[in-house]
Amino acid sequence: MKATLVILSLILLQQGLVAVLWGVMAWLRLSRGPALHWALGTLSVSVGLALVGQRDSLPVWAGFWLSNAFMLAGFMAMRRGVQLFAGQPRADLEQALVWALVMALLAMALRGGMSWALVAVTSFGLGYVMLRAAWTVMRQLAGEFGPRIAAGCAVPFALIGAVFALRGLIAIVLPEAIGHSVHADNKVNVGTTMVFLVGGLLLQFGLLALVFARLLLLLRHQSEHDDLTGLLNRRAIQQRLREEAERLRRYGQAYSVLSIDVDHFKRINDRFGHPAGDAVLREVGRVLRQVGRTVDHVARTGGEEFWMLVPSTGVDGALQVAERLRRAVGEMSVATPRGVVTLTVSIGVAVADHGDEPPESLMQRLDAALYRAKQAGRDRVELALPASANVSA
Ligand code: GH3
Ligand code: MG
Ligand code: MG
Repeated sequence: MKATLVILSLILLQQGLVAVLWGVMAWLRLSRGPALHWALGTLSVSVGLALVGQRDSLPVWAGFWLSNAFMLAGFMAMRRGVQLFAGQPRADLEQALVWALVMALLAMALRGGMSWALVAVTSFGLGYVMLRAAWTVMRQLAGEFGPRIAAGCAVPFALIGAVFALRGLIAIVLPEAIGHSVHADNKVNVGTTMVFLVGGLLLQFGLLALVFARLLLLLRHQSEHDDLTGLLNRRAIQQRLREEAERLRRYGQAYSVLSIDVDHFKRINDRFGHPAGDAVLREVGRVLRQVGRTVDHVARTGGEEFWMLVPSTGVDGALQVAERLRRAVGEMSVATPRGVVTLTVSIGVAVADHGDEPPESLMQRLDAALYRAKQAGRDRVELALPASANVSA
């Protein structure tokens, strides 16, 4: 058996398995749209390859024209899946035109019996689609996964694209190096099919890695954030608090924690409705994030309760931040179907500057400060007793 045919069979096996894998991924609703495209694309490439493999026993139009029609459509489905995955606009018109042009030129080459033109046209078509897909992967996924991962996943696309383009060039410049078709066992054909085999595997592996990486990023985000406001959740800010406590213990760097509670929130819910209450909470979250610096951590820790962790900040700074927050929320107004909502917040402020203080003690001081703010009439900031009062007690 000829080497290219053996490699073709391996590619066919590989592509068939991968198509099933993408089908399962789509069924599991993991990046469903792209996975479906990749399943169909890979399947279409497999059908094309199977036709190529059977070329000798097939009519010319099936072995040469139809096989390439499937291959090119398969590559285009792969590219469309990448565009979907990246949230990019699809290039359907462009792809349809390229497909029609390549297939028309291929029909002409077949009719004229120009095997070099046949190889050149199909190779350029396939190469073009892969290179465009590589570009999309590299440019559009760098923001989400980082430039290195995006570039790494773009390499197999680019490699396959470049090899096909090169094959097209060789077909024009050195037609005798190609022979009549891919069945001719020569360096160019064996090289192309080998790159297809290895590059195809890497390409599919890269796409699979991207799908799982996206899932992982999403799960991590969800485990650390509050759905309603998009702020950190209680668990996440507690982790940040532990990190700050460690910094204080090691380097003596003080930090502050603010506990912010909306005043009479129950009344807002009762008067304007629960959805309006939700809108108010979202707006409060937005204002808190806006007033805080980028290094500050803001969390929604309960119904209408928020925490802000302010690193490297002592009493004066913390009180200033708290006062700014109180004023900013006081100036807010949220339009709802039942009217405009205005609100106030009470804020407890605790400064952690005592490395030996246990976390529960810090939280106790913070709670007590907030309680005092509520007792004193709400819409105000209260500073907690210093840590030394608790630690030495
Ligand atoms: P205070 O000034 O003493 O803090 O009074 P309050 O009404 O703000 O406090 P209370 O703890 O009595 O009520 C909190 C209310 O927040 C009760 C609950 O229905 C409401 N709540 C909790 N979670 C949500 C939520 O996710 N959305 C909405 N809309 N309301 C919520
Ligand atoms: Mg409240
Ligand atoms: Mg409360």
